[in-house]
Amino acid sequence: MRIGLHVCYGDYSRIYPEILDFPIDEFDVELANDDYGQLDVFTEPEFTKDLALGVVDVHTADVESVEEVKRNIARGLEVVPPERLTVSPDCGLKLLPREAAYGKMRNLVEAAREIERDLDRGNLDVGAPEEASADD
Ligand SMILES: [Zn+2]
Repeated sequence: MRIGLHVCYGDYSRIYPEILDFPIDEFDVELANDDYGQLDVFTEPEFTKDLALGVVDVHTADVESVEEVKRNIARGLEVVPPERLTVSPDCGLKLLPREAAYGKMRNLVEAAREIERDLDRGNLDVGAPEEASADD
């Protein structure tokens, strides 16, 4: 069973890198809301958990375009390789009008599928550090 921990937005530098010692598989952060201004917090020292990354902002009813969500997903790939990245809304969608929440999730799914296709075709560079191979 996998264990994830979501931490709502705030100053993540106050809990990183200590969070890496938590017995969790995945750390879920809310970074779309400030346009990934804190992404660098998670690159030094190296992020060793799986990353669940918010790729749509739940504080606005404006529905991000598929292209915009794809750019946000690519930000996550600067921190972890695709096999360790989960994409999610920044936080809960319950305060949004249903249409906006649905539109955000629809575009999130479409963007994730397009990114997967780009990765499968070798059309997308991943900025995350190389995974250490088993015999390193
Ligand atoms: Zn939250």
